[in-house]
Amino acid sequence: MTADRVAALQRALARDASSPATPGSETRVVRAPGRVNLIGEHTDYQGGFCLPIAIDLEVWCAWRPRDDGAIHVRSLDLDDHAQFTFDTVAAAVEPAWARPAAGIAQVLAGLGAQRGLDLAVSSTIPIGSGLSSSAAFEVACGIAIAAASGLDISATPLALAAQRAEHLATGVPCGAMDQMASVHGVAGHALLLDCRTLEVTPVALPDEVTVVVMHCGVPRTLVGTEYADRRATTEAAAARLGVATLRDAQPEQVADDPIARHVVGENRRTLMFVAALRRGRLADLGPLLLASHASLRDDFAVSTPALDALVDALVEAGALGARLTGAGFGGCVVALCRAGDARRVVERAAARYATTSGNEALSFVVHAVDGARAFVP
Ligand code: ADP
Ligand code: MG
Repeated sequence: MTADRVAALQRALARDASSPATPGSETRVVRAPGRVNLIGEHTDYQGGFCLPIAIDLEVWCAWRPRDDGAIHVRSLDLDDHAQFTFDTVAAAVEPAWARPAAGIAQVLAGLGAQRGLDLAVSSTIPIGSGLSSSAAFEVACGIAIAAASGLDISATPLALAAQRAEHLATGVPCGAMDQMASVHGVAGHALLLDCRTLEVTPVALPDEVTVVVMHCGVPRTLVGTEYADRRATTEAAAARLGVATLRDAQPEQVADDPIARHVVGENRRTLMFVAALRRGRLADLGPLLLASHASLRDDFAVSTPALDALVDALVEAGALGARLTGAGFGGCVVALCRAGDARRVVERAAARYATTSGNEALSFVVHAVDGARAFVP
C-alpha cells in the first residue's frame, strides 16, 4: 500500500519532468499526518489546552529539487498541477488548492529557503472534512521545501510556519493545534498541547479504548466567518476581564458569558480528561466528551442538528462518549469506543444516523501515529 503510493508519486514526478530538475538528484518522500482533537475545542487561540492525536490518515509528498527557483506541485488526489515561486503572494495563487503550499513557501523564504522543487502529493485524509488535510499538506510541503534548501527547522518552528502559511493562504486566523499535532505526533499517545507555552506532553492512550471519527456527511459551512466571529468574541471577553487570554479567567468570572464560559470550562475538562487517562479512570472519559459537546452546542453555538444527531447515534450504539471535533458547523464527530467494539459501534451508529437524519456518515477507526518526517523505505 505504502510502496504503491510512493511509486505513484515518483511516477507523477517523472511525468512532470519538463523541468530543469537537478541531474542525478534523487526523489525523496515525506509523510505528514492529519489529526483529530479528542477534547479541548476552541481553546487554542485563547492560550488554552487541547488534546489532539496525529492519526493514520496522512499526506504523502515526493519531491526533488529544481534549479530554476520555481515550485511545481501536483496533487494526485485532485489530478491537478500548480506552479509558483518563493515571491508569489500565496492568496493569489491559482488553482486555489495550492495556496497552502505557496503559503509555506512564502514563510520559509523568510527563513532562507530559495531552492525550487517539484512536489507530488497524495493523501488518505479526506479533504475539507475537519481532519486537517490542510495542516498535513502544509507540513509535508514545508519539510520538503526546507530540505531542498538545506534549511534546518525543528518541529515547533515548522508547525508555526505552517500555521502562518494557513493564515496567508485562507485568511482564517486558525490556532496552531493542527500543525503542532502533525509535527509532534507520538504513536499510541494523545498530545496535551499547552497553547500558551507550546509545550507538548504525550499522554498514553489505554489499550482498552479505540478512537473513531465519523463525518456527518454535511460539508462545513460558514466556518471561516463564524470561526473569526467566535475568536473575536473570546478576545473581547478576555479584554473585558483584563486577562491576556481566557486561560487566565476563573469560572465565576465568566458564569454569565456563554462564549467565555465554554472556553474556561473546556480547559478544565481537557485537564480532567488527561488526569482520567493517566489514572486509568476510563469511566470518566465518555461523560467529559459529552459535556464538551453540550458546551459547544449550547454555549459556544458551533454545532449543527446533523452533528448532534451523530453524537446521539454513537452514544446509543454503545460509544463511551462522543463530541463534535474541529471548528464545528458540519464536519466530524470523534468518539471513544471500547477496543474490539469500534467496528460494531460505527456500523450501528451509521445505520441509526441514516434513519434519523437521512445523511450518510463516513467513518474512520483511527490510531495515534508519529508526527511528520522523512519517509525511509
Ligand atoms: P481540512 O479540514 O481537511 O483541513 P481545509 O479546508 O482546512 O480542510 O483544507 C483543505 C485544503 O487543503 C484544500 O482546499 C487544499 O488547499 C489543501 N489540501 C489538502 N489536501 C490536499 C491534497 N491532497 N491535494 C491538494 N490540496 C490539498
Ligand atoms: Mg484545515
